[in-house]
Amino acid sequence: MSTKDHDLTAAFLKFADELSQFKREELPLSKPATSEEIKNHLSQFTFEKPVESKSLVDNVLNMMQDWTLHSTNPRYFGLFNPTTPISSTMADAAVAFFNPQLAVWWHAPGAVEIEQHTLNYLGQKLGFNPKTMFSSFTSGGSESNMTAMLMAIAEQCPDYIHHGLRSLLSPPTIYISKTAHHSFIKVVKNIGMGLDHMRLIDVDENNRMDMKALEKQLELDEAAGFIPTVVVGTAGTTSMGIIDPLEEISKVCEEWGLWFHVDGAWGGACAMSGKNRDVLNGVEKADSITIDAHKWFSVPFGAGMLFTKNSGDLAEDVFGISADYVPKGRFETHHTVNYYTSTLQWSRRFMGLKLFMLFAEMGEQGMADRIDNMFDLGDYMRDKFVEGPWTLHNDTRLPIICVTNKSIDDGILTTAEILAEIYRRNEFWISDIEMMNNGKKALRICITHYETTKEDIDFMYVALQEIIDDLLKAKQA
Ligand SMILES: *Cc1c(COP(=O)(O)O)cnc(C)c1O
Repeated sequence: MSTKDHDLTAAFLKFADELSQFKREELPLSKPATSEEIKNHLSQFTFEKPVESKSLVDNVLNMMQDWTLHSTNPRYFGLFNPTTPISSTMADAAVAFFNPQLAVWWHAPGAVEIEQHTLNYLGQKLGFNPKTMFSSFTSGGSESNMTAMLMAIAEQCPDYIHHGLRSLLSPPTIYISKTAHHSFIKVVKNIGMGLDHMRLIDVDENNRMDMKALEKQLELDEAAGFIPTVVVGTAGTTSMGIIDPLEEISKVCEEWGLWFHVDGAWGGACAMSGKNRDVLNGVEKADSITIDAHKWFSVPFGAGMLFTKNSGDLAEDVFGISADYVPKGRFETHHTVNYYTSTLQWSRRFMGLKLFMLFAEMGEQGMADRIDNMFDLGDYMRDKFVEGPWTLHNDTRLPIICVTNKSIDDGILTTAEILAEIYRRNEFWISDIEMMNNGKKALRICITHYETTKEDIDFMYVALQEIIDDLLKAKQA
């Protein structure tokens, strides 16, 4: 080993040792910070002279500790931001260390095959056939959703690839529910479809895509000469955890000959559940599915996934190129996957190792238990609020509740006031949403941390009530 490599190993061990000193579960949630304060601190880094390594590491770790909203804390009941298990944290470190280039199969054959092995396993859990599907890791759900939309348009409007959208006699339209993720808005803006060709379908009283509204819109669009192209069903909406009627959407797509995409960025992880797998019934009918490994599966960012039933020809149509400077490998065969010709990214990191290691370390039953345990905790939390002075606004089995109490309903307290006090006290973390059906706000509480316990929920419940009582007292005074 050269001295240099030796130094790197020693530094790495030292760094790991420093990290292991942190008690992540005790890190403060939302310590206040201002941009000015951080910029002031950073002004010491003029990059003029090298900084000594020990003080650099200490400084960086302090910055990460002080200026991060720590979703690794089990009392973080926030957005779909997970804590990270040790196996997948090590995986990411190993990836940085070896730095395999996944653009081309033969540059990183082990890495590509590990990813495909992991994706095929999960694809099977979704009801896809690994022999005929195509899947890849992406930077996240947004890239997965964009990829799916591009493939859907390429399949439905073959002229698109060569002649572009403007060559089509009428514009393709996509259908999402009003509560779908806003990444689709980015997609239609970015790929040249235009916001005018995105239909936001109404939801029913349970916030699920309203099938009558969908069919009516399809009829209107067909009559007006648009090309209905793709319907998106969400499996676990971001604000309320609602699962659209996947079976019914699939039937409409079949009848109309449309591409059916399921956005399961968060909820897609239920494919690994034991007792609760049925919440995803119908997902197997999809043409493509988005799942984020960096949400419910709890691996570090960024690890999105896209599964599609198309064997890969379509991906090659959309992303294929031939570049003379990419050497053709000695071992390259028709059966290998080259991500630079089948996905949006070119040079890309080995994103899949962290999920591979997690699955291997936990085993199938371990993963199922972890997910089902979070469902149980969700039930426990829901029951607690419903039995107390709270109104539940979202009808879902997933571990997320949207609630209000009388003081919020009567306009005496706003959710913003409550959240400000929660963040000031810094003992737990929740957020709020605006409800589709009435435009009113509700508190959103989601179990995102697999080590959250009933005690954490009890604590949060009592502390929330105390905060509300204190705010009400202060108002009366
Ligand atoms: C988070 C989320 C996305 C976007 O995924 P990113 O990984 O943040 O890009 C898309 N859809 C849903 C339903 C989500 O919850």
